[in-house]
Amino acid sequence: MKKTVLISLTALLLVGCRWRSGKGERQIEFLRVTFINVGKADSIVIQLEDQNYLIDTGSAKSTEQLDEALNQLGVNRLAAVFLTHAHKDHIGGFDYLSKNYQIDKVYISGLGEISDNDVIYQAKGRNIPVEILAHQTTLQLTPSLTMKVLGPQHEFEDENNNSMVFLLNYYSRKILLAADMLLDAETELLGINQDISADILKVAHHGQDDSSSAEFIDRIKPSYCIISTDTKEREKSADPELIKRLGGCEVYITEDYEKGILLMLDNFGEIYSGKLGK
Ligand SMILES: [Zn+2]
Repeated sequence: MKKTVLISLTALLLVGCRWRSGKGERQIEFLRVTFINVGKADSIVIQLEDQNYLIDTGSAKSTEQLDEALNQLGVNRLAAVFLTHAHKDHIGGFDYLSKNYQIDKVYISGLGEISDNDVIYQAKGRNIPVEILAHQTTLQLTPSLTMKVLGPQHEFEDENNNSMVFLLNYYSRKILLAADMLLDAETELLGINQDISADILKVAHHGQDDSSSAEFIDRIKPSYCIISTDTKEREKSADPELIKRLGGCEVYITEDYEKGILLMLDNFGEIYSGKLGK
């Protein structure tokens, strides 16, 4: 069942603690996923069991928003930072982040331009191990949370298609994070003989109309769709035609939230949506 409530930071802090639920003896455990408003850029915080993970860092000009969000979420250490691809709206905040936060590990795909990007030298210079994740690898982030690398399956000419695409699995729920994958990579993903359906979809490439085909949406069947963009910067992101294709999916656009969109998933399968901050 889908449940939409407004979650404030106060509520977030309260539910950060575990308590006995009325649903039997199991304790409630929350996975928190925050899509930070970093403009037309990506930065996603995953939090579970005192572990914090970050997928992309936003751009160099959005480090203030990144900093504020991480502070509000109580993050000062990141167990891992995943850099999906080499574009500056995804990795531009890394220099700032790695100077100001403890990062235990950086993950990249090893395909495309990322391996030779400055961020890798910055990470190594700060003694942060950099690990390459091959497609189809599954990381067990915590006992209840896995992260599977669905792409890229090989190197593409367009760096957007080299985006690492992740499928997170938390109890009965799944989250697909499509980074900036375009139609070429998307079509290949449709060709794999696996269940890639997901309850939550981070829509690819800031909601521009060069990915998220009708066939793809039909295969994923998402209930919640997140678009990370600023339509003042790129009018055609959050493209109306694309939003139409998302059908019955509940659409959230980061620019509509001052600090970001917060989704909470519990171990009973409930999903709660809200905003970061007051
Ligand atoms: Zn991007």
